[in-house]
Amino acid sequence: MGTLDLHGRPLRNLRLSVTDRCNLRCRYCMPEESYTWLPREDILSFEEALRLTEVFTDLGVRRVRLTGGEPLLRRNLPALVAMLAELPELEDLALTSNGVHLQEQAQSLREAGLPRLTVSLDTLKADRFEAFNRRPHLHRVLAGLDAAADAGFDSIKLNSVIIRGFNDDEIVDLLAYARDRQMEIRFIEYMDVGGATDWEPGKVVGKEEIRFILQQHYGAVEELGEQGSAPAQRFRLQDGTVFGIVASTTAPFCSQCDRSRLTADGRWYLCLYGEQGLDLREPLRAGLDRQALAEILRRHWQQRDDRGAEQRLQATDRTALWNREKLHGKPHLEMHTRGG
Ligand code: SAM
Ligand code: SF4
Ligand code: SF4
Repeated sequence: MGTLDLHGRPLRNLRLSVTDRCNLRCRYCMPEESYTWLPREDILSFEEALRLTEVFTDLGVRRVRLTGGEPLLRRNLPALVAMLAELPELEDLALTSNGVHLQEQAQSLREAGLPRLTVSLDTLKADRFEAFNRRPHLHRVLAGLDAAADAGFDSIKLNSVIIRGFNDDEIVDLLAYARDRQMEIRFIEYMDVGGATDWEPGKVVGKEEIRFILQQHYGAVEELGEQGSAPAQRFRLQDGTVFGIVASTTAPFCSQCDRSRLTADGRWYLCLYGEQGLDLREPLRAGLDRQALAEILRRHWQQRDDRGAEQRLQATDRTALWNREKLHGKPHLEMHTRGG
């Protein structure tokens, strides 16, 4: 069973952020003009990230997802993939990317041993992409997805954050795009987390509404059984197309949450909403061995009480979680720093 937290939840999933830098400025994640970046000397080397991942496997982690910021901005990322792919304890290794640099890197990531890929795609309209993600790169993302399809990954998933008044009119088209390419799409509810300083309850398009929109167009939608600790609830259209909805805002799944996040500079967060992280870089660089590090992690996980999204659901007059000033002073609160 491994180590359990205060609510009896094991630690199975690790989101490993390899950089806090990004080449897009999505409005739900990085809406500001300026950011406080992590100092370069604090960023973990690949060897350090590997050593910490090994310690995490001692606690029960079996699935690792590389993320960021934009992970493909980290130089020579396939080398880290190859190192992680060798870890015997890991049952799953995946990567979440915005796809801008996928055309150049899909093949080398696959060859390095990356089995699974998730690409974020919120719109199929170039002008909308430029307005919302604030860089003119949609054609590169689409070319990157074509390259990924040719590279032979075991699975490619798409993530679409749906925001009212921005892309809620594209839910049907995004599903069609994914279906044509045999990619599973997951619609994600807009969360008030990290840098989402423009968040408002009215902009959230909830699970039921997304399902209704798809049902109106595609006919009956069947809910597929147990989701376990996976964040997405999965559904099937009559033609067999499977898609997911991640209802993190309207129906949080904290009671099953077995994931945690390590920032690129080695800070460990037990919840997306958590304000305090545990610095693992310092004990690692001080030379603590694997067993001693595992003991630090174990004690910390055993004290985990977090269920951020469920608690936010109780908030009255809910607005964005953090404001600009707070985020400037504490960049670790940002989604692009802790990895989504
Ligand atoms: N840059 C990569 C990307 O965009 O795929 C990886 C990091 S990004 C922080 C990871 C995921 O978080 C993306 O799928 C993104 O859409 C999601 N995300 C960021 N901010 C969000 C928000 N406010 N609500 C819901 N999802 C969000
Ligand atoms: Fe967008 Fe991902 Fe960059 Fe955030 S980290 S701005 S979600 S591409
Ligand atoms: Fe897990 Fe925190 Fe998200 Fe709840 S809010 S599912 S505890 S990361």
